[in-house]
Amino acid sequence: MMVTRAADWVLAPDPHGGPPIHAAECTTCLEESPADTSREIPDVWCMRHCAATGHTGYRVTATTFVRAGRPPARQGL
Ligand SMILES: [Zn+2]
Repeated sequence: MMVTRAADWVLAPDPHGGPPIHAAECTTCLEESPADTSREIPDVWCMRHCAATGHTGYRVTATTFVRAGRPPARQGL
């Protein structure tokens, strides 16, 4: 992300972005879990994938949505 004048901008959770989305990917065969707002779905997928394949490494991601905007006016200046 390129920010030229970070002090002029702030990031806040995107009210239209929804909750974080969790997913996992096997680092051995690159198969992907279902993505879900619950962390439990990819976690259970990892354990089942390990039981089925013996693959033990996973890349777990949480995607969140933010929105840049102007900071609120500071009081007392
Ligand atoms: Zn795998």
